[in-house]
Amino acid sequence: MSKAIVITGGSRGIGAATALLAGGRGWAVAFNYARNESAAAETAAAVEAAGGKALAVKGDVASEADVIALFDQAVDAFGPIDGVVNNAGIIAPAMAFADMGLDRFRTMIDTNVLGAFLVAREATRRMATSRGGRGGSIVNLSSAAAKLGAPGEFVDYAGTKGSVGPLTIGLAKELGRDGVRVNAVMPGLIDTDIHADGGSPDRARRMGVNTPLGRAGTAEEVAQAIVWLLSDDASYVSGDIVEVTGGR
Ligand code: NAP
Repeated sequence: MSKAIVITGGSRGIGAATALLAGGRGWAVAFNYARNESAAAETAAAVEAAGGKALAVKGDVASEADVIALFDQAVDAFGPIDGVVNNAGIIAPAMAFADMGLDRFRTMIDTNVLGAFLVAREATRRMATSRGGRGGSIVNLSSAAAKLGAPGEFVDYAGTKGSVGPLTIGLAKELGRDGVRVNAVMPGLIDTDIHADGGSPDRARRMGVNTPLGRAGTAEEVAQAIVWLLSDDASYVSGDIVEVTGGR
């Protein structure tokens, strides 16, 4: 069945790979991005070349107005929303927790926690049957850092990703009777640009050799799990946190 979905942070990495896979299924994909116009245009063109429809919207997930505008534009373009991927997230340079500043904490929490909450709330408002929606699927992006803690590097990031589990479990229980399934995907070391923002572009490849599968994962491998959770093939899966960590 064709679907209309919203992805946050769809211009690059896991969000872009998800958009492309969804496009290949003929789905309509509205996605936002923070600042990288050329990457957004490239992803939109690739989604359409793969057989889907695409709409790229510039906006910040930490801005309530931007999140509402993203969903409004998605509905205007493609009709009722069937799925939402709560994917946009950031990291910051690796350092000891004691050295992290207030601005870093605020930006991290605003983007990864407040942003995820705003997107999940808007998804709920649009898809819950009791609010006029037709049900759907929400997929939240957690991280293996939520269970490992990322000591000495990204404890702040790990803390923000720790909020994804309760958000997912609580909403799955709250929204089941509203026809909305809610799950999370927990990636491990995935080879995307995010590691350059942490100060080590080859981090996933370097550390991936020490995982049980002996390598980093790809954005496409995470996207496969996300699209499955969005699809009707996962019709009885809710409240789950699917690890895509290569066994890490
Ligand atoms: P990425 O390659 O750095 O891509 C991030 C995407 O999010 C880009 O499209 C970026 O837009 C967008 N974005 C950033 N801040 C935003 C904001 N405030 N508002 C809207 N969009 C914003 O990241 P990734 O590796 O694909 O990560 C995606 C998700 O997976 C994140 O939630 C991350 O925490 C999680 N994750 C990743 C890994 C990993 O190893 N890669 C592991 C565990 C969890 P621009 O292109 O405009 O900058």
